[in-house]
Amino acid sequence: MTQPKFKIRKGDLVEVITGRDKGKRGEVIRVIPKEARVVVQGVNIRKKHQRSYTVGGQTVPGRIIEFEAPIHISNVMLVCPQCNRPVRVGIRREEGRRIRICKRCGNEIG
Ligand SMILES: [Zn+2]
Repeated sequence: MTQPKFKIRKGDLVEVITGRDKGKRGEVIRVIPKEARVVVQGVNIRKKHQRSYTVGGQTVPGRIIEFEAPIHISNVMLVCPQCNRPVRVGIRREEGRRIRICKRCGNEIG
């Protein structure tokens, strides 16, 4: 298998299970399959300093931009809406579709 299939998708609610942001929850904004990384809303915030610059004779002051840096997909777990906690996810195949199942309560996550 050359392309790993991830159980986490854009729009999912996930919880960080390790690292600096452990316990934080947020929505997945972006999945980067090539790097096995995800960008999660409000998680792994980095600050970038933007220098002031001049546009049409007007100076735009420098500022600090906050943005979410990608974290490794293994550092987050999907939150089951039924259990309201991070859970392991199983896959059930049905009519060619992959349906994600909470391994704890058996609920379909979709
Ligand atoms: Zn569940």
